[in-house]
Amino acid sequence: MKLYKEKQECCGCGACADVCVKNAITMKMDEEGFLYPAVDEQKCVSCQRCWQVCPLKKGAGFQKKHRYYGAVNKDLRVRERSSSGGVFSLLADYVLNKSGSVFAAGYDPEMNVVHMEIADAKNLDRVRRSKYVQSDTGMIFRKIRARLKEGTWVLFTGTPCQAEALRLYLDQEYDRLIIADLVCYGASSPQIWQKYIRWLERRYGGKIEEYDFRDKRNRDHGHTVSWKNGKEEKAYPMYKDPYNQMYFHNYTIRPSCFQCPFCTPERNSDITLGDFWGVEKVRPEIDDRMGVSLVMTHSEKGEAAWSDIRRKCVSFECEKKDVLQPRLQTPTERPARRSLFMTLYRHLPFSVILRLFRR
Ligand SMILES: Cc1cc2nc3c(=O)[nH]c(=O)nc-3n(C[C@H](O)[C@H](O)[C@H](O)COP(=O)(O)OP(=O)(O)OC[C@H]3O[C@@H](n4cnc5c(N)ncnc54)[C@H](O)[C@@H]3O)c2cc1C
Repeated sequence: MKLYKEKQECCGCGACADVCVKNAITMKMDEEGFLYPAVDEQKCVSCQRCWQVCPLKKGAGFQKKHRYYGAVNKDLRVRERSSSGGVFSLLADYVLNKSGSVFAAGYDPEMNVVHMEIADAKNLDRVRRSKYVQSDTGMIFRKIRARLKEGTWVLFTGTPCQAEALRLYLDQEYDRLIIADLVCYGASSPQIWQKYIRWLERRYGGKIEEYDFRDKRNRDHGHTVSWKNGKEEKAYPMYKDPYNQMYFHNYTIRPSCFQCPFCTPERNSDITLGDFWGVEKVRPEIDDRMGVSLVMTHSEKGEAAWSDIRRKCVSFECEKKDVLQPRLQTPTERPARRSLFMTLYRHLPFSVILRLFRR
């Protein structure tokens, strides 16, 4: 059985591999550095479960009730360590305070971006902040189901396709589950990210231990990147960073993201988090250049969690028209030079690619 014909039909969420009771599906990396499912025909019994959990096949309608808010976490230290207004951390605390588990994306020791379980608030910083790299969900969906079956509270955060995959995977409502997805520009190649990290290590010496895509030290809406390698720390504008240049020129983005069905404010998650683009026009007094979150609730559960954490924020309710940034209207555009980029990426040394495609 083939799970997709064209690459853009697979978002790499991994739910199909996780749901397969015969362990017939493994996620394998393609030449662009993205994971795709490979089916072992000897083990496959054509039960179709893998199709049922695919967020790009289901074509389900979205929930109908949505509310829109802008918010900043009143705790400035947390907001400094967050990419937007720090609402994710409040949601995480909401669940951790109920002895629950948070499943979110952080770095492993090799700087791969992976989904991991956090059950102790002192480890929360590991999963704070956006990483503009597609995260590997591993076998996290089955772990989440096991936690829910135990009666544990769970918060899952991830890209909208990962969030929808979890919902389809679970295939039943759980009162103690909060699914929070993100507004998403696109998922970038994990292999290109790894090559970039190794290139930084060769160039500057020392192992990269931390990389912050949205460093706020310059009070510039987090448009600074920084990294540490044990010997030194560097911080510079995002637009000068080669990896971010390739990402924001859309060269390193996964094919499915160019036709993403989740570029809309309507979702099936409980709550959506993003940057409040254009807040300076709606509520200029709240914009201190340290990040304002966009919060969209889609369910009663999402609204209840938001009502609880809202008292720890400065916040306001607004209308849909106030929040419609590009990624809530259309998918990121496939650039004309992406094929050229990927062809050269496959054949040339990475240092040459960086020289050719950085601007
Ligand atoms: C790849 C990507 C693209 C994004 N594009 C946009 C955009 O175009 N417009 C916009 O408004 N917002 C975008 N965001 C969301 C935004 O950057 C913040 O993540 C979000 O607003 C939450 O911020 P926060 O301050 O509440 O919490 P933070 O502490 O910043 O929380 C970050 C949360 O994002 C999750 N996360 C981080 N990296 C990944 C990843 N690679 N995959 C899955 N989950 C991840 C973490 O698990 C954590 O839950 C994007 C995020 C990512 C990861």
